[in-house]
This record gives sequence, C-alpha cells and structure tokens, in this order.
Amino acid sequence: MIDIQTKIQQLADTIRYHDSLYYESDAPEISDAGYDVLRQEYRDLIKQYPQFIPDNDPERHVGSVAAAGFKKITHLKPMLSLDNAFDTDDILSFDERIHRFLNLDFSAPVEYVSELKIDGLSCAVRYRKGKLVLAATRGNGVEGEDVTDNVKTISDIPHHIPFSDEEVEIRGEIYLSKADFLQLNEDRRLAGEALFANPRNAAAGSLRQLDSSITAKRPLRFFAYDLVSSISLKTHKETLTLLETWGFSVNPDRKVCPDIRAGESFYNDIALRRAHLDYDIDGVVYKVNDLELQRRLGYVSRSPRFATAHKFKAEQAVTRLNDIVVQVGRTGILTPVAELEPINVGGVLVSRATLHNEDEINRKRLQIGDQVMIQRAGDVIPQVVESLTQHEHFTPYQLPSQCPVCQSETHRVEGEAARRCVGGFQCDAQVVGRLKHFVSKQAFDIEGLGDKNIEFLYATQRVLVPSDIFTLQHRNGDAFPPLEKEDGWGALSVKNLFAAINGARTIDLHRFIYALGIPQVGEVTAKILARHYPTWDGFMEMLKTQEEALKELESLDGIGPVMAQDIVMFFHTSTQIEWVQNLLQHLTIVSSRQIQTGNLPYDGKTIVFTGTLLNQGRQEAKALAERLGFKVVSSVSSKTDYVVVGEDPGSKATKAKELGVTILSEDEWAALANKK
Ligand SMILES: [Zn+2]
Repeated sequence: MIDIQTKIQQLADTIRYHDSLYYESDAPEISDAGYDVLRQEYRDLIKQYPQFIPDNDPERHVGSVAAAGFKKITHLKPMLSLDNAFDTDDILSFDERIHRFLNLDFSAPVEYVSELKIDGLSCAVRYRKGKLVLAATRGNGVEGEDVTDNVKTISDIPHHIPFSDEEVEIRGEIYLSKADFLQLNEDRRLAGEALFANPRNAAAGSLRQLDSSITAKRPLRFFAYDLVSSISLKTHKETLTLLETWGFSVNPDRKVCPDIRAGESFYNDIALRRAHLDYDIDGVVYKVNDLELQRRLGYVSRSPRFATAHKFKAEQAVTRLNDIVVQVGRTGILTPVAELEPINVGGVLVSRATLHNEDEINRKRLQIGDQVMIQRAGDVIPQVVESLTQHEHFTPYQLPSQCPVCQSETHRVEGEAARRCVGGFQCDAQVVGRLKHFVSKQAFDIEGLGDKNIEFLYATQRVLVPSDIFTLQHRNGDAFPPLEKEDGWGALSVKNLFAAINGARTIDLHRFIYALGIPQVGEVTAKILARHYPTWDGFMEMLKTQEEALKELESLDGIGPVMAQDIVMFFHTSTQIEWVQNLLQHLTIVSSRQIQTGNLPYDGKTIVFTGTLLNQGRQEAKALAERLGFKVVSSVSSKTDYVVVGEDPGSKATKAKELGVTILSEDEWAALANKK
C-alpha cells in the first residue's frame, strides 16, 4: 500500500501531465470526464490532508506555461477556470456556499445568468483606444501565448470597437462549428494527415500556429462572454449586451434565472437541444448576475466563487437519428450505419454509429427521426444504446433485398444475422473493399495506397484486381495519362509509391494468406495456417482435395468447421484461383520455416492436449509446445504423435489408446518439454 502523501504526489504529477498534453500539445490522452475524476479525487485528498499539498499543486496552476515559439503576455486579470458541478446536489451546494459567503438569507434567491459552456479555447483580446492590440491564450491563467496575428484572422473578432477611453480586455471562446470541424477532418483524412479528436482540439491546433496564414484558412469563430474594464456596469447581463453593441458575437442562448433551480431547468432544456446546436458545448455556466456580488465573492485559488460549470455527463449523449445508411463490406456483408446529428460524446464529435444488423435495429425499435442515446467507450466505435422515442406503430427495419452498390440480390444466410450481397467480383464495394484490405497494415502494408488512392486507382480502372498493383509502374502512361500528371499526384509521391510497391513484392506467408481476404480468416487464423503449413506450396497441396482438406483444417487448434469450409471453398472457386495465380507471378513468398531460426526439436510433430493440466495453463502449454516446433491440434488421428493427458480426460485419451498414439502424463510432458 502506498501512503497518502505519495498518493497525492502521484495524482498531482498525473494531473500536471494531462494538463500539459491538453494545453501545450492539444493532444489529450484521457477524456474530460476522466480528467475531472482525477481532479476531484485530488481535491478531496488535499482537503483532508492539507499538510501534504505538493510543490507542483495543480490547484495553483491553470493550464500550462506558454509554449516556446510564442511570446508571453500577462493578462490584465488572471484568467481562471471554473469549478465543475455534475448534478443537482453540486449546484445546490454551489448556491448554498454563495449564500453563506455573502451572509444572505437562504430564502432570498441569488440571480444567475445561465450561458452555454462552449467547448473551445479561451482567449483574451485587448483593445487600446478602440484598436485591437493584443490577443492571448489562457496559458497558465496568469500568462498566455501571444496569438495576436492569428486572432486578427478571425472574422467574429472586430479589429476596432467603438470605445476609445481606456484599455479593455474582452474574453471569450474560440471554437470551430461542428460542420467546419467535420469538413476539416475529412480534408485531413484525404490528405493522409492526423485527425483531430474533437472541435476543441482542432480549434486549439488551428489557433496555435506560428504561421498565421494557416490559422486564416481555418474557419475559427468566437463567442465573447466577459469584459475586463473599469466601466461601471451593474450586471453581467449588461456586460453581454454591451459586448454585442460593440460588434461581438455573444451566444444568444443565455438566460437570466431568478434562482439556481431556474438555472437547472435551463440546463435540462439545453441538454435536449444540444445535438442541434451548430457547435459543441460541454455544459452550462451559472454566473452571479450582480457584478457587485461577484466582486465581493471574489476568487479561491483556481476559480471564481461566483460561477460554476454544470457539466454534461460524458460518454453518453442524446441526439437525433437522421438516417440509416447501408455499407457493403469486402465480403459482401451489408452493415446498417446510423447517421446522427453530430454530437460531442466524451470529447469526441460523433456523427455515425454502427447498428450491426437488422435484428439489432428492430430489437431496439429504432426508427429514423428518433431521439437516441449514443454511447462511446474507449476507442470503440460509438453505439446506439436505445431510442427515447415511443412508437405506437413500429415498422421493422429491413436491409435492402438489392445491394445498394451493385444492385445484385442480397440474401440472409440461415443461422446468421448478416445479409450479404451475392455480387462478388461484380460488386464495386466488395472489390474496392478487398483492394483496401489487400494493402492494409497487417497485409501488404503499402505506404501511399490509402483508401483515397485505392478508390482513385479503381475508379480510373488502373487497378481492378490486386495483381494490377504490381504492374502499375510498368503500365504507367500506357492506356491512361501517367499517374504523376493526375491531380493530387506529384512526381515524388508516384516515385515513392512505386518504391513501396516494389518493396512489397516479398512477403511473409501469413501476411499473404491474410491479404487474400478469405472470409473469416483474420490475422490470428492466418498465422495458425502459416505455422502449420510453412510453405505456400505445402498449403496448396493440403487444399487439393476438398474433403481431406476440410477434415485436416478442422483438426487444427483454433479453426472451426465453418471457417474450414470458407477456407476450402475460397481455393475451390475458379475466379479466386485465377487472381491468386496471377498475383503469385509478381511475388516471392517467404515460408514460415525461413522466418524461424535454427532447428526446433519437435519440428512438424503433432500434439494434442486433453483434460485439465494441473501445473500449467492450457494456453501456456500450447505456447510452449509451439516453441518446441509442435503442431498443436485439437483432435486425435493416426497422424498424431503425442497426446498429453491431464485430469478427467475425455474421449480423446481413449481414441489415442486405440490408435496406439504415444500418451504422456502431465509430468512426462513437463520432462519432455524441459529436456530441450
Ligand atoms: Zn453489391
């Protein structure tokens, strides 16, 4: 067990680490909700054990130091961040603290302005004699980064304001609209650049550019929410109105609430409308409206006492199911996909979610137009949890009986939830899907052949089957204009592509098997096959007769009857054989045996484990056997060399005895394994 002081120090270090990722590199590793949990745990601990507050106390720092490359600017007044509230109890105690601090009677309500908490990047913009002179990020709250040139490119921020008496600072949030964010990411995806996780990261990345011409190309926007000046105003509401008259965008969704309960009902209303807003928000902010009360309330170390942020729960959100579209995969399976009104779920803007299959849609009674609950967990593709809309009459969803891409028939395989397009090589979606699979990371891993380029090469008929990839250079300029003359293909990128293709002409057997896209054969199965049949010729030899191949494959550990069927069928279909044969002319396949080093003691011997092993897990025993060169199979035949019999063995032990296969006890197996 670690002591409290160490625990506090570790938490502080962790929080500072995430702060720096968030503020300095715009590349957070944890969700906002996860961060809030850390922060809360830390706060609870130091409240209990103030004697252990570490030197690098995150409570005394907001954000981070200004990054190198940007000049530092000291804010007129510290830019602090807000405390968070997550439920009714939290906001009631916020209101209670205010009453107590001001010594107000609890029956006298405090008036709040409720505003949306825009999920963007805080920024302070300074005007001198009405002219924009400086703009800074929040930075560590005291000092921020000078982003003046970049901020001047944002059209929502006027370069001049009709107020020339003194120096004033306008504060607000720089953000990207959902639509602009999706477009920006789409452009980046096509260009092969890293994607932004959410609009806030994209806004931060766009603003914090040393070259302001890059910022100018990004459609950044700004909502003003505060003013630092000596102008005498009475309420926060007046401040917002004044900012509007000066030409700033102030968010129209704001409300003066007579008490905190009214603030909460504003929050509930916004939670329902959130998906339909043009921008991301992560909660609602309540600020005491009376500026004199604000002044009296003042600040605790990190946050103002007069305001709090009522955050939405992360990881789940309600939005509208706009449409159900159908995607066709490389094996012809039709997958329904939910098109959603874009919404921030746990820090990521979600606009699509998988619906798996038609049974799933009907079980959840989902219909286009429904308000649906979306959930994200880790990096998993977002899911639709349930519909919040009641249907008196529900019409079950049906996947189309014709493929949306090639118009071939689709049919539902008995016993499977999936529906498939029977188009095969006639279906563009399947062919392109296979090409993409063929060049993917775990397969041929050809750099320069991303989705966009594969789609282009297919659409222009340069690459129709995998073997075309390997003749691309030879044919370049023959029937079509040379690739380097096409839009988006420079001479250098074409040269690099050809080099990458040539580098892929030699490939490990298991990668090759995986690349073929045999139904159900993923990376793991491909490796099992390559281990049992170390050469391509050996693999083909085994597949020669359908019946025997089936029997043999089924006996392999990790391969079931359905998978065996798919593998055998694949190599007994003339169209497949043809393209695989064509492909082989261009390739050197590295046998698995060549990959292994040295001779293994039991190379090629087969072994079966049955019953419960007492000293070794089944997985461990198998791994050990494979390291010694054994083929681990699951059924006993006359070809089996050894059967290891543990406690309560089943029929396999009996069969081994009948066939005269060498039987080993667990101890004998251990002795044999340890000998080598
Ligand atoms: Zn099709």
